[in-house]
Amino acid sequence: MEKREDIKFSDFNLSRETSQAVSTMGFEEPTPIQVKTIPILLSGMDVIGQAQTGTGKTAAYGIPIVEKADPENLLVHAIILTPTRELAIQVAEEMNKIGRFKKIFAVPIYGGQSIDRQIRILQKGVHVIVGTPGRVIDHIRRKTLRLESVKIVVLDEADEMLDMGFIDDITTILKETPKKRQTLLFSATMPTEIIKIANRYLRNPEKVIITKDALTAPKINQIFYEVRQSEKIDALCRLIDAEDSDLFLVFCHTKREVDDVASDLKLRGYEAEAIHGDFSQYQREAVMQKFRKGKIDVLVATDVAARGIDISNITHVVNYSIPQDPDSYVHRIGRTGRAGREGVAITFVTPREEKQLRLIQAVAKAKIKRGKLPTLDEVMGARIETLKEKVQEFIDDKRFDIFIKMAERLSEGLTPIEVAASLLKFHLEGFGAEVSKGSDLSTNETGASPGMVRLFITIGRQQKIRPGDIVRYIAEKAGIDGRSIGNIKILEKFTFVEVPRDMAEKVIDAVHKGIMAGKKISAEPARPRT
Ligand code: AMP
Repeated sequence: MEKREDIKFSDFNLSRETSQAVSTMGFEEPTPIQVKTIPILLSGMDVIGQAQTGTGKTAAYGIPIVEKADPENLLVHAIILTPTRELAIQVAEEMNKIGRFKKIFAVPIYGGQSIDRQIRILQKGVHVIVGTPGRVIDHIRRKTLRLESVKIVVLDEADEMLDMGFIDDITTILKETPKKRQTLLFSATMPTEIIKIANRYLRNPEKVIITKDALTAPKINQIFYEVRQSEKIDALCRLIDAEDSDLFLVFCHTKREVDDVASDLKLRGYEAEAIHGDFSQYQREAVMQKFRKGKIDVLVATDVAARGIDISNITHVVNYSIPQDPDSYVHRIGRTGRAGREGVAITFVTPREEKQLRLIQAVAKAKIKRGKLPTLDEVMGARIETLKEKVQEFIDDKRFDIFIKMAERLSEGLTPIEVAASLLKFHLEGFGAEVSKGSDLSTNETGASPGMVRLFITIGRQQKIRPGDIVRYIAEKAGIDGRSIGNIKILEKFTFVEVPRDMAEKVIDAVHKGIMAGKKISAEPARPRT
C-alpha cells in the first residue's frame, strides 16, 4: 500500500503560485488520488480515474490544469463537464482558489442562470470553463464559446452524466475541441458504457484506482450522522454533551477548518484545542502538556498532525469532514478503541458525500450505522446522569463531610429540592444568572467592571449567538460604538454584557423587547454576583 506520508505537495515541483494556493487552502499533504493523478497529468497523459466527491479529485485535476495554463493568454484552456449545476459551481470555486495566485480564472456555466450574463463573462475571457453539457452546447451553438484553444477536457462524474442522458452532448462537445488534447475521465463507478467512452476518446489512459485494501476495524462502534455543513458544529456539541467520554479527537480536512472548529467550541465553553501542521514544536508540546494533565476534552486535528501524537484514551473519533479515502478512515478511527475498550467512531456526512460513505463502507468493510442526533431532552438526561455519578463520587469521598454542615445551614427554611435546584442552576449557568427587577444602573449593583454596567440579555448559546453578534446588534440598535462594549459572557440561555454606565439606559431601551436571531429578547441590569 502506498504510504500517504511519503509524498508531499513539494514533490510535484509546482510553481510558487500554485504551492501558495494549496497552502492557503489549508491542504497539508496530497490525498491518495492526488498522489497518483497529479504527476500523470503533469506529464501530459490521459487519465481514467475512479473517484468521487470527498476524495480530493477536483484538486487532483485542478492543480495540473492551473499549472499548465498561461495567465497571459485569455483563451479557454480547459473545459470541465459536470452533471449538475451544484457540482459546476463547487468545482469552479475550487478552481478559482487553486488559480488565485497564478491568476487563472474559472467560470461555471449552467442552465437556469441568465445566459446574457454568462455571455458577458465569456466575452471578457476565462481560462477554465466548468459547465453542464446542455448549457455548454447552447453557447457553442450561439458561437459565444469557442473551444479550439482547449488543451484539457475533464469529464467529471462521468457515470452520472451518462445516467442523465448527456452522452450525445458530451460527444458533440468533444468534437469541438482539438484532437490533440489531454482528456481526463473521473467516475465513481466503471460500467461498460464508461469504458467504451474512455476507449473512444482517451489516448492510452493511465488508470487510477484508489487502493482497495480490505481493512477492518474491530471493537469500534461506527456511526454516521447525516448533517448539513452548517449543522455540524451543533451536532458535535450535542454529541459531546450526550456521550460519556474522556476525549474526543475531531478530524477536519484543512488547517483553517481545524482552527474554526476549535475556536467555535471554545466560545461555547468546551475545553477544546487545535493541532495542525502550522503549529511549532513548542505550541504542539503545550497542547500535549494540557492534554496529559486532563485539561482538554476535545482535540481538533488534521490527519497529519494527529499522526504525530501519541494519545491513548481517545473514547470518540469524529470525522468532522469525511475522510478522503477508506485507508484514511481506517487510520483515523483506529485511534479510538484501544487497550480493550470499545471506542466510538462518528462520521458526519453531508448529502453530497453519501457515495463517499458507501465507498468507505465497501472498501474498508466497515459497518457504519446511521445514527440519530440526541434531542435536547436526551442531552439534558445525559448531563444529569454524569452529574449523578459525580455526586456519588463526592459522597464517597471522606473530605465531603465538611460540606454536609454547610448544606445543613444552607437548607434552613428551604426544601432540599429547592437547594439542589438552585445549586444546579448556579453550576450550569454560573452565578449572577438571576435578574433582579428594578435594580438600578449603578456599576457596583450589577457586578460590572469600574465605569461599566453589566446587562443581562435573554439570548445565549442556544441561539448560536457569538460575542461578535452581540456587539454588532447592540452597536447598531443603540447607535453606539461597538468598541465601547466591554466583557461579554455567553451562557446557555443568557448573556452578560458590560456597557459604559452612561450608555446603559440607552442600550436597554434600544435592545429590550427587540428581536435577535429570530428571538424576542429582554435586557435588564444584572444582579450582582454573590
Ligand atoms: P473533492 O473530492 O474534490 O470534492 O474534495 C473534497 C474536499 O477535500 C474539498 O473540500 C477539498 O477542498 C478538500 N481537499 C482536496 N484536497 C485536499 C488535501 N490535499 N488536503 C485537505 N483537503 C483537501
